[in-house]
Amino acid sequence: MKPELPFRQIHLDFHTHEAIPGIGEDFDPEVFADTLAQARVNSINIFARCHHGWIYYFSEKYSGRQHPNLTRDLLREQIDACHARGIKTPVYITVQWDHYTAQRHPDWCVLQADGRLLGTPPYEAGFYRRLCLNTPYVGWLKGFVQDVIETLPIDGLWLDIVDAQDCSCAYCQAGMRVQGLEPSNEAHRVQYGTQVLHTFQNEMTAFIHMHNPELLVFYNAGHVGPRHRDMLDAFTHLELESLPSGGWGYLHFPIAARYGRTLGLDYLGMTGKFQTSWGDFHSFKNQAALEFECNHMLALNAKCCVGDQLLPHGRICAETYKLVGAVYAQVEQKEDWCAGAEQVPEIGVLTPEAFETVLHRGQSNFKPIQGAVRMLQEGVDGVKYQFDILDGESDFSRYKVLVLPDYIPVDAMLQQKLDAYLARGGAIVASFASGTDASQTQFTLDMGVTLTGEGPRDAHGNLVRGKEYPGNAYIEYLVPRAGFDDGLAQTEYAMYMRGMKIAVHDKAEVLANTVASYFNRTYDHFCSHRQTPSAGKATHPAVVQKGRTIYFSQPIFSLYQTKAPRWCKQLLFNALARLLPEPLVRAHAPTASIVTLNAQAQHNRRVLHLLYYVPERRCDEYDVIEDFTPLYDVAVSVKAVQPVTGVALVPQNTALPFTVDAGRVAFTVPKIEGHQMVALSLT
Ligand SMILES: [Zn+2]
Repeated sequence: MKPELPFRQIHLDFHTHEAIPGIGEDFDPEVFADTLAQARVNSINIFARCHHGWIYYFSEKYSGRQHPNLTRDLLREQIDACHARGIKTPVYITVQWDHYTAQRHPDWCVLQADGRLLGTPPYEAGFYRRLCLNTPYVGWLKGFVQDVIETLPIDGLWLDIVDAQDCSCAYCQAGMRVQGLEPSNEAHRVQYGTQVLHTFQNEMTAFIHMHNPELLVFYNAGHVGPRHRDMLDAFTHLELESLPSGGWGYLHFPIAARYGRTLGLDYLGMTGKFQTSWGDFHSFKNQAALEFECNHMLALNAKCCVGDQLLPHGRICAETYKLVGAVYAQVEQKEDWCAGAEQVPEIGVLTPEAFETVLHRGQSNFKPIQGAVRMLQEGVDGVKYQFDILDGESDFSRYKVLVLPDYIPVDAMLQQKLDAYLARGGAIVASFASGTDASQTQFTLDMGVTLTGEGPRDAHGNLVRGKEYPGNAYIEYLVPRAGFDDGLAQTEYAMYMRGMKIAVHDKAEVLANTVASYFNRTYDHFCSHRQTPSAGKATHPAVVQKGRTIYFSQPIFSLYQTKAPRWCKQLLFNALARLLPEPLVRAHAPTASIVTLNAQAQHNRRVLHLLYYVPERRCDEYDVIEDFTPLYDVAVSVKAVQPVTGVALVPQNTALPFTVDAGRVAFTVPKIEGHQMVALSLT
């Protein structure tokens, strides 16, 4: 196992146009590194080459690439000053966004099938033209990487903007023909693009490690997900870029983290100090938001990284590092209870992202996984299930229940794996098209249900099921039956998207029924402002249990992400309660709290994280956290797998009284100020 990554990192962006004078003229290596050290930073990504294409060190071989106004050997001075204080310095090199190279070598740029270069058009601001990883550019890049490694005592390479492309450049067309692929076929191009990416990463990592096997290597593409499984050999670790105010939102990090942490590499979460996103000079994130983001990383077993941008003159921003230092001082206090910690999951949620077809990669409908993360994170009645996000290749044996939200097609291979999982005592909750074949025409997973038809089509001829319509035109209703109505009434509940039309077989138990409206809402029959009300008659099952499987015909996860009806969450938790009645953790905190349980094997203890920060939609563009409300006297219980010898608030090291009853350790956390950890010592 590789050593753990440093906990307190900075990513110091430095993309600087040549029209700006005096690059680095105000840089003071002592002030720079002292400021970082005082902010408790122990690793920083600094810049060898930026998106403008300029380099920031004195190079004999690449002197023509030096920023024309570079006043000093900036990167070397940064590295030396940091190393003198024990701060690691991986080095940033842009790969596919390089304005200098793209301007001079349009023949090295990604060419779209319509004949245009991909990225920024000639008369717009931006360096977003894409270089193709199948051109002589790669040879140039290797030479440059070698120069960096041989010139400077770096700790790693952070290679940015590295992703598969649908490219029709001369090199890619020729390469496809050699392999018998047809360049005019989009599927062939996408397949080839993935191969080009994998070859580039594998060869580059081998090249880097040939020169220095100790170097960290990471390739960034803005999202870590199931497509990374096939690339892991080229990575020493993972970094999850996810700036909540920068387009990623607050749901992206837990989605990426709960998947990424199952891949077996150490990893970090990366946010930014900006009010918005990268390049937002002279702006500052609220401290409570940065605390939440870093504490959420710790709670999900990640190390922390905060993005910043150095000003062109090179003076480090004291105010930024007051902010970072205020948070990193807390992280430093907490990390003894986070080092080597691993999640203790009980539920695995398969992500639809893993089942996208090659042509639709990147266009995945994230709603089902977003809805699943929201519902499981929030919980019902204090039940805070512990969960990971999985793909079809994950090890299912770690999980008591698998959740297949809305769009998990089950082919013969997955069916075999799921059948074996069920046979060993596993349980499955699936919804909507999950459990059917790829064309959604029949169930391949036996959950006691069959499809009885495709349901109605809209005026454009499209299938209505699973889609949103204005006025909820194709609504149906769900009525829970006795025994499945905890927290609900035996009445109609609006299901805004039409579900699958199903019948039961094999004596499967119907837990809820679907009730139709009088008619679909159209120009010639409609009622009131929105959906047509219930006609009062059950038409077919809505929720069905067969053995250890429970199937929901409606897309409850997409529904929750779209409109957050509490009844959808309650229905999910009623199903989970049948399959997993004794959750690992109960915490009687508000639903906006996040509670995670980790195991620190080396200390023989469990560490519980309780977070309560509430992002609020305060502006048009994103959610904001400015402060937090303390919670008092939160009753918690944890299922005890081993006798517990002590419970303590950490890092305060304050012992808490606890009781053990019916296999659960119960205690009360007196106060949660945003984030509180509790250590449970085991015998
Ligand atoms: Zn190409």
